[in-house]
Amino acid sequence: MFPQLGRALTLAFRRATSVLDSFSRNLILGNRAAASVIAATHLDGRRVARSTHGVLLPTRVTLTAAEAVAWRREGVRYAERSLELAAPVLGGGVSKFQAQSYARTVLTQSIWNGQDVEALRIAETTEAIWKEWVRAFSREEHRDHHDDLIGRVIPTNELFVLPGGPNAGASVFGPRDWNGVSDAGEWIECGHALRFSREARVRNAA
Ligand SMILES: [Zn+2]
Repeated sequence: MFPQLGRALTLAFRRATSVLDSFSRNLILGNRAAASVIAATHLDGRRVARSTHGVLLPTRVTLTAAEAVAWRREGVRYAERSLELAAPVLGGGVSKFQAQSYARTVLTQSIWNGQDVEALRIAETTEAIWKEWVRAFSREEHRDHHDDLIGRVIPTNELFVLPGGPNAGASVFGPRDWNGVSDAGEWIECGHALRFSREARVRNAA
């Protein structure tokens, strides 16, 4: 378990939910305001990583000006990709409920992506060459094959092999490796993450 990460993510998800109504409307209309919200949640995800992984690995908590610029630029780029993906889904006329549900997923994934990207960046800069598959927080999740990987520690540059489920045998960098497995069913509502360390340590599962 990585409860600090779970708590920080829960707060970030709550912040995103507070703007869900207006975000959902703007997303359907393809407004720039929607891109701003996605970019902001991406930044929020990065802050989550900084405040959690940054404690485990020796890294600065404060941002340099150059980092702040890079974060913002990457957030905007991520937002543009999200809007491109959303256009065909929402363009065909969906119900308010469907739009809100999709909008919620967009923001959740944006936070997760920010945290995944920043956690990896912290690992790289601190030369944390081991990664462990962990559960960020307990939740209703029905992917036993993800839980089977909990506690597995491998070198960061190696891949995990999904031990079950519809994509069994696929190699992935970690949870939400969309390049490795581009199946939304595998990653949406996935509560797992990677925890990086500089030494190989076998921790207690779950
Ligand atoms: Zn999972």
